[in-house]
Amino acid sequence: MLGQACSSAPSGGPDGGGAGAAPGGATASGGGTEGAGGGPIVDEAPRFAIEGVTTWRHGASAAYTLIHDDTCGAGLDNQLSVAAPALGQRGLRASFGAIVQSCVERDLWDALRELLAQGHEIVNHSFSHPDLTMPPVDLAVEIDGARATLEAELSGYGITFFVFPLDAFNDELVDHLRAQGYLGARAGARGVNPPDYEDDLRIRFDVFGPGYSVYAGAAGTPCAAVAPGDEAGGASPACRQYILDQLVEDAIAAGGWGVRELHSVAGEAWEPVPIDEYEAHLDRVRDRIDAGALWMDTASAVLRYRRAREACPPPVVRGDRLLFAPPSGRCAAYATPLTWIVKPLAGAPTALSAIQDGAPLDTRAVGDGRFLVDADPAGGAVTLSAQ
Ligand SMILES: [Zn+2]
Repeated sequence: MLGQACSSAPSGGPDGGGAGAAPGGATASGGGTEGAGGGPIVDEAPRFAIEGVTTWRHGASAAYTLIHDDTCGAGLDNQLSVAAPALGQRGLRASFGAIVQSCVERDLWDALRELLAQGHEIVNHSFSHPDLTMPPVDLAVEIDGARATLEAELSGYGITFFVFPLDAFNDELVDHLRAQGYLGARAGARGVNPPDYEDDLRIRFDVFGPGYSVYAGAAGTPCAAVAPGDEAGGASPACRQYILDQLVEDAIAAGGWGVRELHSVAGEAWEPVPIDEYEAHLDRVRDRIDAGALWMDTASAVLRYRRAREACPPPVVRGDRLLFAPPSGRCAAYATPLTWIVKPLAGAPTALSAIQDGAPLDTRAVGDGRFLVDADPAGGAVTLSAQ
């Protein structure tokens, strides 16, 4: 290793060669120092090891996405006027499934642009909300045309997720979305997606209200008396709260991804959640996030993380720098910060700071002398500093 003699910095611990690093090799390769040419000698012995990337961002135990369906539909404007502000007050983001014909007819584009400005996601919920499995259906209108209209009205915003109207889908429809380059679709069985689920185009989810939830009739729960098809208003407040919160708890227990389908937060639309119960749920979610157990984000944000995790190799460590290889096309396409597990190789630092492209990165200590660093593998070198 060149240059070690010039530095007083530790030269690395017993596993300083990168043992235990993630596949792809988080090892210092040596070479390339300026010292070889007579300039300043740089210590390139790795002072940190990259031990891998966490399954979900920030090292959270689970991911959670809330999707409001039927955005722009009659009776659902409370999504825009009530739900979005309640999310924003807690620093949370959600996905909103637009019925595009309704957005056009009711001219709600300014409201949708405001949702995007707040960090929420707009997803395609078809043009006119038909059962796409019942012919005749024109996919060029209902899926492709709806997406094109959204993207044109939203100034080129990329639509990357699809929600099937009435949750009705078949293999042909899923294949169509895959061919059109969608990142994912809500089209699966009910329940939590395990951490290693197979298909982004068949995302599992749970439906609110109570009569349509996986928790309907669950023995020993506040929903034990709920029968399939029962209306939300007929279920107890305790049952409604249980349904909203338990999907999050089950996702945390499974280390997976919980996706919640719901519609309005008040009013007369299908299966509304009372606003006080909605806010209580968001408070519960916020608590879980603050405890490090949960990452809540939009559907496409979770999918991008998952795909970047597979497509982007870990950085090489040289000295106190993390050097990412030039991103492949796939890695660059999903470019998003990944959460790297970083272990200092000497000393027992209690804090770690990181800078990428001049900006400080989110870092946190996780015990056992390890830290998490959120760094974009397409964002250039990261400089670490342990304190
Ligand atoms: Zn719908």
